[in-house]
Amino acid sequence: MNIDWLSGPLMQQLNSGVILLNSSLQIVYINPYICRRADIQLEQVTGKDLFSVFTDAPKAWLSRKLASVLSLQSPAFSSWEQRQYIFKLPHLRPISSSNQYMAQNCNMLPLTEPGSGEHYVCLLIEDATDAYVYQSQLQQTNLQLQQVNRLDGLTGVFNRHYWQQQLEVEVQRASRYQHPLSLLFFDLDKFKRLNDEYGHQAGDLVLIEVAKLIGSLLREMDLFGRYGGEEFAIILPDTPLDGAIEVAKRICRRVELTPVQYQRQQLNTSVSVGVSEYYTGLSGDEFIQQADLALYQAKRSGRNQVVSYYPELVDSLKKVKS
Ligand code: GH3
Ligand code: MG
Ligand code: MG
Repeated sequence: MNIDWLSGPLMQQLNSGVILLNSSLQIVYINPYICRRADIQLEQVTGKDLFSVFTDAPKAWLSRKLASVLSLQSPAFSSWEQRQYIFKLPHLRPISSSNQYMAQNCNMLPLTEPGSGEHYVCLLIEDATDAYVYQSQLQQTNLQLQQVNRLDGLTGVFNRHYWQQQLEVEVQRASRYQHPLSLLFFDLDKFKRLNDEYGHQAGDLVLIEVAKLIGSLLREMDLFGRYGGEEFAIILPDTPLDGAIEVAKRICRRVELTPVQYQRQQLNTSVSVGVSEYYTGLSGDEFIQQADLALYQAKRSGRNQVVSYYPELVDSLKKVKS
């Protein structure tokens, strides 16, 4: 059966691109699919160098690739994941404005003309924009999910899990580069009473507002997390003890001076803060323990105040407990 008649209608209707080049990379044929999108006429480009027609194509990379197809007589492939597109062509998705060019898969096939033995290379170009858009959206969603997974649902600060991971990172950085690093632990004072008196909703609002207020007092690089119910923790990178004490005092003062408006009432609140500074050899857990001990001492000394950790604190608290 003779199927010579097939190639004409097939090329007219094919829903992907065909570019046929001779061994000097001059255009022999381009199908209507590409001509329409590139806004070119086949008669005007036949015989011309590929890169003089598609001036934006990645010349160095593509000519190397095509040369190897011709010399090795073996096909090559370029996927949109490696290189989003080879030819700057519009895609047919009118709505997605995120990428203006058609993402492409491209097969590069070596061909030999039976009679003359002349070598050619045929580029089959497939529109992969759907896959590209789908993957971009998926990546975006994953990124958003990752963000959400790091945050505490009520206050929007980091949750304990993520915060602790970040503490390990900062501890390692501080010990490797000998940078100062400090930690604040703070806890709302008499919060149970506030809940009992005004209700859990009022308590929640106080947590949200206090977290917001304190967040506004911190630097971009500080890592603010919710450690437990009404207990929060802040990692202060590149901050020695005296700087951390200053931040802690500012937090204490501002919380005390900023009542939370709940319905028609002003809810007064305060925090106690424990501070500790990192030194080489201290583990993340020990670092936390020291800030927590200092916080405990701040509660014991009357609340609404800042205490920084000192080694004798351990013994004095042991005495209290025994
Ligand atoms: P102290 O000054 O010693 O810290 O006293 P406190 O009353 O704050 O401490 P205590 O540990 O006795 O009580 C903490 C309270 O915090 C009890 C708990 O119901 C409340 N709490 C914990 N998480 C939440 C929360 O997400 N929302 C609300 N509204 N309350 C919470
Ligand atoms: Mg408390
Ligand atoms: Mg507590």
